[in-house]
Amino acid sequence: MSFLNATTIPSPYYDALYPATDFSSLTWLEQQWVAWYVWIGNPIIATGLMSFIIHEIVYFGRSVPWIIIDATPYFRKWKLQVNKIPTAAEQWECTKQVLFSHFTIELPLVCIHFYAYRFLRLMEERQIWLFHPTAEGLGMSTYHAPFPSLKTMAPQVFLFFVFEDFFHFLAHQALHTGVLYKHIHKIHHKYSAPFGLAAEYAHPAEVFILGAGTILGPLLYVFFTKNLHIITVYVWIVLRLFQAIDAHSGYDFPWSLHNIIPFWSGAEHHDFHHMAFTNNFSTSFRWWDRIFGTDDKYRQYRARVKAAKNAMKNASKEEQEKMEQKLKDEVEAEGIRAEAEAEGSAPKTVKVQ
Ligand SMILES: [Zn+2]
Ligand SMILES: [Zn+2]
Repeated sequence: MSFLNATTIPSPYYDALYPATDFSSLTWLEQQWVAWYVWIGNPIIATGLMSFIIHEIVYFGRSVPWIIIDATPYFRKWKLQVNKIPTAAEQWECTKQVLFSHFTIELPLVCIHFYAYRFLRLMEERQIWLFHPTAEGLGMSTYHAPFPSLKTMAPQVFLFFVFEDFFHFLAHQALHTGVLYKHIHKIHHKYSAPFGLAAEYAHPAEVFILGAGTILGPLLYVFFTKNLHIITVYVWIVLRLFQAIDAHSGYDFPWSLHNIIPFWSGAEHHDFHHMAFTNNFSTSFRWWDRIFGTDDKYRQYRARVKAAKNAMKNASKEEQEKMEQKLKDEVEAEGIRAEAEAEGSAPKTVKVQ
């Protein structure tokens, strides 16, 4: 049987997990949710598997449109570093590394969670579906239905965005220092012009460290409020994945979110981080970099591009593009020096074109 028809098949898990639930009052999605938990029959495995599957589907699913955009010359006019289009070989290399990370860090965590649970089960002599160590231990609803309302979910998701952004702002700066950079974060900086798939192209330790910012917010929130459903955490994670992949896309469209919400970071902000190596350490919002002045070079660069564009209003398109490329090359050359410094190696001599 599949989980989709599990609701029609009698199962002892109904009584165990959903003793006083009126299934006819649930939405279609909530019914599928119930069916999934009943089909798997173990909330720990069901939650772990669901988390892993959502991550893989959303990560690679969201990256596909960016692969198509990279392969379509029409979109080049919105590419931030137009001279650096990722090749198919680079995208494949990146995919392999990301999959390696997911399978070596994320999946074992799901398994460890399961074995820790089995151990606790022996200790507690409790039924398999009545004990849920981490999330439920802190008070999070998992298999429960119905889901919370949008009014409950929206402010929670916004809080997770704010928490993760600040956590990332601090941890990312730490990753730019000495040993942490040299042995961990350097991998993520392989691409000075990133692309969607490169969002999680990183050392497994970095996935673990920065991933903590995504998970800790919900765990702290539920610890203090005892009011959080895991479906809200999934909504948050899906939006966070969209944010991370889009920030690495390398494209700035007129309809990109930061052109509508000025404090949203977007690709235009993070692409500069990869190009210049310094500045713009946050993920979703621009405010911390602005407050702490870690966007000074970025703002100088934008001012220079603007001034040069004004000064060259009557020049040909080619001349304007050449000028913009020259400014980018200068920023990148400065970035290569800053990277060598962060690694503790002697500054390299870089030819500025
Ligand atoms: Zn970085
Ligand atoms: Zn990045």
